[in-house]
Amino acid sequence: MTHIRAPRGTIDVFPEKPGVWQRLEETVRSVCRNAGYTEIRTPIFEHTELFQRGVGESTDIVEKEMYTFLDKGERSITLRPEGTAPVVRAYLEHKMWALPQPVKVYYIGPMFRYERPQMGRLRQHTQFGVEALGASSPALDAEVISVLISVYQRLGLEGFVVRLNSIGCSKCRPRYKESLMNLLSKHTDELCADCRRRLERNPLRVLDCKNERCAGLAKKLPPIFDYLCEDCSRHFEGVTECLTALDLIYELDPTIVRGLDYYTKTVFEVIHSGLGAQDALGGGGRYDGLAEELGGSAIPGVGFAAGIERAVQVLQDAEGGAIGQEAGRVNVFIAAMGDEAKLQALRLARLLREQGTSADIDYLDRSLRAQMKYADKQGVKKVVIIGEDELKGDYAVVRDMATGDQAQVQFRDLVQVLT
Ligand code: AMP
Repeated sequence: MTHIRAPRGTIDVFPEKPGVWQRLEETVRSVCRNAGYTEIRTPIFEHTELFQRGVGESTDIVEKEMYTFLDKGERSITLRPEGTAPVVRAYLEHKMWALPQPVKVYYIGPMFRYERPQMGRLRQHTQFGVEALGASSPALDAEVISVLISVYQRLGLEGFVVRLNSIGCSKCRPRYKESLMNLLSKHTDELCADCRRRLERNPLRVLDCKNERCAGLAKKLPPIFDYLCEDCSRHFEGVTECLTALDLIYELDPTIVRGLDYYTKTVFEVIHSGLGAQDALGGGGRYDGLAEELGGSAIPGVGFAAGIERAVQVLQDAEGGAIGQEAGRVNVFIAAMGDEAKLQALRLARLLREQGTSADIDYLDRSLRAQMKYADKQGVKKVVIIGEDELKGDYAVVRDMATGDQAQVQFRDLVQVLT
């Protein structure tokens, strides 16, 4: 029989890797908590309509990347491709607008996109993100950006660049779109098939198209800054002022438009050159029109989402794959010989674990020598040896693996000595 393999575009997180995943997740939790964000967990699947309305019909995600199916009740269901629309849905559904504003939440979880798998691009990937709803202050945009940067800084991740842009609002963007359309319609034969198709609905997408010829054209287009209305200009100035006050370095990049329709005003991406073609570590922006799009009132919001697998890759490249190898390592190994001693070892391991000390025993009926070798390979700090003599004398031998020192310890004192 052939072996069943994991579906294309998915990964298993191997035993030596959880260390770095956990470090990342703990850092996200700690940085978010310190900035006043609390965790939200939304369902893995939602009604398809949420993403059609929330993410936008003309986006790559909705057009071609969603895992959509009819459930047994004939409802159209979609595995979530992103986290913002679900959070805004939850905010409206649970009347969080009645809480003190802004409501600040963070999430960590899997996202699903039917993309062509390649390095850094998976069909199931994991994102962490924050959303701050109910306030339109530019200081909140800056806070969101600074939270993401703090996560990377706390992890010791280096070499990333923050790229910032504004894509205006429903007042000023149409004027910019129109002038892009006018300019680009003279060059339709130079555009890739996707951009040609999207030109009518969303000419902004040409700006961030990866196709070489489209990128060449994009460089010649006027930046949106010249078209922003007064409100958007002032907001953008406010954001840059706050970022400067926070000593956060950023680059202005008029080609950052983000792939999702719901953004307004501020948009940003964090890029890392070590990632290759898929070089975005994370990105986000303001989405003041999204709540209305989902049937709520005009609730402003801003947030980011960042890929965990990509951050793990950068960290591992930087640390030569050495990180995470300590995962699963226990402090104490109890090596036992004989049936009675093995029961004693089982009991002792449980006691130690209950007292907060990690401990393990042999489950393969190895010889004492082989157990010691195994414990050494696992890198444990102490080995407790229980054989027949020790059982008779009501004691165990405790060996310090770093120094090689050994001592006899009475059973009743063992837990105290080892914890
Ligand atoms: P997006 O909302 O598309 O900007 O995604 C946010 C972040 O999630 C990106 O900056 C990536 O780090 C990560 N990401 C998005 N799509 C994928 C994917 N298919 N595979 C791996 N990571 C992804």
